[in-house]
Order: sequence, then structure tokens, then C-alpha cells
Amino acid sequence: MRKPIIVGNWKMNKTCAEAKDFISQVDPYINGIDSCTYGVGAPFTALSTCTENAHNLVIAAENCHFEDNGAFTGEVSIPMLKELNVTHCIIGHSERRTYYAESDESVNKKIKKLLDADITPIVCIGETEAQYDKGETLDVLKKQLHGGFEGLCEKCVSKIVIAYEPIWAIGTGKSANMEIAENCCKAIREEIRSMLGDVAADAVRIQYGGSVKPENIKDYMAQPDIDGALIGGASLKVDSFKAIIDATK
Ligand code: PGA
Repeated sequence: MRKPIIVGNWKMNKTCAEAKDFISQVDPYINGIDSCTYGVGAPFTALSTCTENAHNLVIAAENCHFEDNGAFTGEVSIPMLKELNVTHCIIGHSERRTYYAESDESVNKKIKKLLDADITPIVCIGETEAQYDKGETLDVLKKQLHGGFEGLCEKCVSKIVIAYEPIWAIGTGKSANMEIAENCCKAIREEIRSMLGDVAADAVRIQYGGSVKPENIKDYMAQPDIDGALIGGASLKVDSFKAIIDATK
């Protein structure tokens, strides 16, 4: 049985004070709810505030560096995250791929180091609108999976969360319909099956992300191959995050 995981991606939003306020309202709200794992991805500066105040929510970083230390101005390493009790880390988000040259190769290095540190990678993959229009979606997903997961074992991949996020659906309000979302998540699972076998394919959790909101999350979660969601805009306000919890608990 795969336990679904719902994670807010705050992106470059929330000061420490704002993060603390959110956690103090949402964390007690999920006390005793066991149907899903709930969490938030916070900017580096708010991570310690979040981990110190959260008892039920899991806390994710939104990126990391694959080296433990060194001359990488502005970067944050995995031991630094570990020290703050961060348990999850979003990597390969399309915004990082587009604006900061994140590649399948760097995603692969980060996954390996995160797994070594016992931090769960939430690995984002997804196609652009132009690739979707040209019918290239499955090829793009396969390329990202093969590049990102190169050299990983069946057991390692079982611990990973994959977020399928069509780029055309992120922040646009144009969420993928259920058929597209399910078909792509199913195709991702079958590709993992052919790469690594049944154990990995049946255990890996696959989220859908892209304009998920309280009104549509239930339908996504009802799909057999969708095990949760990565949620940007609708994770920022306490009321809408609580409405997402209400719809999925
Ligand atoms: P959105 O963002 O929910 O605002 O579309 C999703 C994401 O970027 O992870």
C-alpha cells in the first residue's frame, strides 16, 4: 500500500514569521490524520522555523547542492539540511531547470546524496507546452527518468517520490485533466517497472502537480496511479491548505 503524500511548494514565498504563523495553524489541524502524509516545501531561510514548529507536517527543502561543502557561493548542502531535521527535498523542479540550469545529471547526483543522507527526494519531471503539443510528452518523461535515475537500485527508487508536473499546468490555472494526469503517472510507473522491476514500480509514489486546488484534488487522488500532489499557489494560504486537507483526509 502506497501512502499518498501531499506537499505544498511555497517557492520564494514566506518570511520566517509568515512560515511560523502558517505552521502554527496547519500543523495541529492534521494531528491524528493518517490517510496521507502532509508537508510543505519552504525556502532555506524558513526551514529551521518550520522544523522547530512542525510536529505532524513533514518539511521539505526546495533544492540542495550535491557536494557536502566547498566553494559554491549561495548554495546549501545536504548536511546543512540534515542538521535542521529536514526530511524531504524537492529537486529538479521545472523552475530550477528553466532558470538555474538544473539538468538530469545534477538531479541524479542530488538523488544519490539525498538517499545516502536518508532524506526523501521529491523529483519533478514534466514536459513543456510545445513538447505536449508535438506529442513528445512520454519521450520527455522517459529521458528525464533515465537521466535522473541512472545507477539507482530498485530499493533506492522505492523510497523516492516523483512529481509529474506538466509545465503548462504550473501556476496557470490550466490543470491537466484527469485522463492526462493518470495516463502520464501510469506511464511513469510502467517505465520504472521496465527499468527497475516490480518492487520499485509498485512502491514509488507519484504525485501530480500543476494548478491543484481544493476543488480538484479529490479527483486526482482517486486515480489509481496518482499518490498525492505537489501544490504551489494553493498551498500558500492557510484556508486553502486546510481545504485540501479536508478533501483528502
Ligand atoms: P501550482 O505550482 O500549484 O501553483 O501550479 C505547482 C508547482 O510548481 O509545484
